[in-house]
Amino acid sequence: MKNKITNVQGFRDFLPAEKKKRDLIQNTITKIFETSGFLALETPVLEKQELLLGKYGEDADKLIYKFEDNGGRAVGLRYDQTVPSARVISQYKNDLPKFFKRYQIQDVFRAEKTQRGRYRQFKQCDIDIYGSNSPIVDAEILAVVYNCLRAIGLDKVKIKINDRQILIKYLSQYANSVVDVMSIIRTVDKLDKITELDAKKELVMKGLSEDNVNSLLFDIINADISDELQNIIDYATYLGVPNGVIEYTSILARGLDYYTGMIFEVTSDYYEHGSLGGGGRYDNLINNLVGVDVPAVGFAFGFDRLIEACEITGIFNNMLNEPKIMVTVMDNLLKESLSVIKILRQNSIKSSIYSDYTDKLSKQLSYANKNNFDYVIILGEQEVEEGTVTVKNMVTGESEKVIVQQVVTYFRNLKY
Ligand code: AMP
Repeated sequence: MKNKITNVQGFRDFLPAEKKKRDLIQNTITKIFETSGFLALETPVLEKQELLLGKYGEDADKLIYKFEDNGGRAVGLRYDQTVPSARVISQYKNDLPKFFKRYQIQDVFRAEKTQRGRYRQFKQCDIDIYGSNSPIVDAEILAVVYNCLRAIGLDKVKIKINDRQILIKYLSQYANSVVDVMSIIRTVDKLDKITELDAKKELVMKGLSEDNVNSLLFDIINADISDELQNIIDYATYLGVPNGVIEYTSILARGLDYYTGMIFEVTSDYYEHGSLGGGGRYDNLINNLVGVDVPAVGFAFGFDRLIEACEITGIFNNMLNEPKIMVTVMDNLLKESLSVIKILRQNSIKSSIYSDYTDKLSKQLSYANKNNFDYVIILGEQEVEEGTVTVKNMVTGESEKVIVQQVVTYFRNLKY
């Protein structure tokens, strides 16, 4: 027997039932992004290595898929959407508005160790605002993130927030010639994943004295919020984020190097396999890339984790309660069946037609049963003569005759 070929680990297939849920959530997010004035952007999956490398920090650099293309060029798969977008901003600067609000929903690729909530190809839903360093836009990003979560129906959410400048203020004094402040921040970032003891060990290994490690952890755990960050939180509240959702967290660090101001992560009590999204302000990234000074702030939803959280909370049970309808088909009554399906679809009633008119009615009904159709619309000779259809409820087994002209009203008035 031939070896079965399966998908590559960490790169997943989504069968129709799963894809449907994903599309529902993606559409909800897209709607909120659009309502908030963000414009869609798409960028290619491959970027030059010179763009990708050295932007995320050394840990993340190791996770970038890099290879030579067929022409010997050094390329890589996009690791996120922030860096490719920064390239777009610099490349098309004159064609874009001064304050450019863009959203981007695409897959990104990371050569991670796979586990629940950690994949090698996964979708990110990004929003970013370019061209302004006003706290209003930081607050706007927070509000849009909250509105998405609300529209999806995910509750028990927290937006944990901090300011890179707070971390730098409290931690810079501990940096030395072998450990820079970013390296310290990267270890602090792990405090919610590893124990405090392991974090201390890591910092000592990096080259700090034990006393300094104890003292720096004490400092950062007790660090006060900055006025700038408090302002952002206040504006976000005016924009509708309820009190208590945003939570100042002085040890939140976000591993990526490029953040310069506000940093934040979204979590839900329902989901314990990592954050549902993260973002922040990164005012120097575009300047570092191409020497153009464009301040920026943004956020990425980790879409796959969001879907898993929705699954856990049962959100899909409410969203997917549209009935599945199948119309039977007989070879001598083909025209009538096609006409019923036409009427249903013209009226946006989702329906399928059985796909082989040579099969007996009993076979068609058992197919409907096996594939979880809720209703079957049967058209036999008697029905056609009467100008009716028989609607069979596959859950209760009950049938009733409905006049063809009233089929649409019948399904519209059903209580699910
Ligand atoms: P980052 O670009 O690292 O800030 O990640 C933003 C969001 O993407 C995170 O909050 C996660 O929700 C999600 N994410 C990051 N890495 C993965 C992964 N390997 N698999 C699935 N989701 C991920």
